[in-house]
Parts: sequence; C-alpha cells; structure tokens
Amino acid sequence: MNNAQPFVDFLRRMTALVEAKASTAEMLREVPVALKPVLAGEAWLPKDLSVPNPDKYQQYLLYADPKGRFSVVSFVWGPGQYTPIHDHTVWGAVGQLRGQEISTNYARTPTGLRVSSVDTLTAGETISFAPEGGDIHEVRNGSDQVSISIHVYGADIGRIERHIFDLDGAVKPFISGYSPGPVPQWPL
Ligand code: FE
Repeated sequence: MNNAQPFVDFLRRMTALVEAKASTAEMLREVPVALKPVLAGEAWLPKDLSVPNPDKYQQYLLYADPKGRFSVVSFVWGPGQYTPIHDHTVWGAVGQLRGQEISTNYARTPTGLRVSSVDTLTAGETISFAPEGGDIHEVRNGSDQVSISIHVYGADIGRIERHIFDLDGAVKPFISGYSPGPVPQWPL
C-alpha cells in the first residue's frame, strides 16, 4: 500500500459525499467516520506539512476541492499556540493526529460572548460542528509538545470571509488564508 493511501481514500470518500449533495447532518456524521483511518498513522502526511512555526500555529492546505465544496487542512501547533476567537460559517470536522487540541466554544449573549463548553481532543479522536449548532470557538494546543490535527470544512476555508470576535462581542471580518507550503498532488 502506498503511504498516501489512507488520505487518498479519505479524499475519494469526501468527493463522493459532495457529489451526492450530502446534507450538513450527513457530513457531521460521515466525515468523522471517514477521518478515523487517516488518524491511525502519519506516514501519509508530507513532512513539510507537519512542521511547526515558533511564531504562529500553522494551517497547511492539504487539499481543496476544485469546486470549493470542501477543503482539508493540517493544523500544526507549537507549545502554547492558539487561535483568535473565530467562526467558520460552514460545517467542519476535526480529527486529532498527534498530541491534544482544546476547543473553547462560545455562545453569543446580548453583551458579548460566554463560554458554552470545552472540547478536548486526543490522538485518534474526532469532532464535528456546524453553524446551526454553534460555530464560534478558540482552539489551542492542549499539550506542551507539537500537536497536529486534520481539519475538514464545507468550503475552501482559507479563502472565504468569516469572522473573529472579542469577548465583548466586537466582530471583525476575517479571511484566514493558508500557511506557505507545497500543496500535495494526491493520486486521485
Ligand atoms: Fe475553528
């Protein structure tokens, strides 16, 4: 078996789901299932796309669907690194490949934001979310080592406009982009 096979199988499954026009509810159920084999090892992940940056968490684009229906990103966290509070505006799913990631989830209130829940993902675990069920969070490395997670979204997430938030409720437009790195050519 080729090293890339678990990830290629995942991309084929994702493409089949979007071709079949799967609903958000189906994506929230099916994407975590499809991610599980990808989380069993790191041999499929190009080394260049698993490198932390001491200045900032990295978001390497692993694959963007040519029609913009989904994208897959490796998040590589150095110790102590974290995101701004942000939303996605589309469904998402995360699988933890290495280490631990902590998502602090927020709900809007008349005066700002309040913490609604906290999710901790350890290697091999998955989670999914959608705007309908609460879409605002801050994510951080939950370990003192490098952590890596695989994020899947229902759009070309680095290129769409979404939002970052202050705790007092201030909202700013946000386009995350992707970290510089070679986008792999997967043998699909
Ligand atoms: Fe997020």
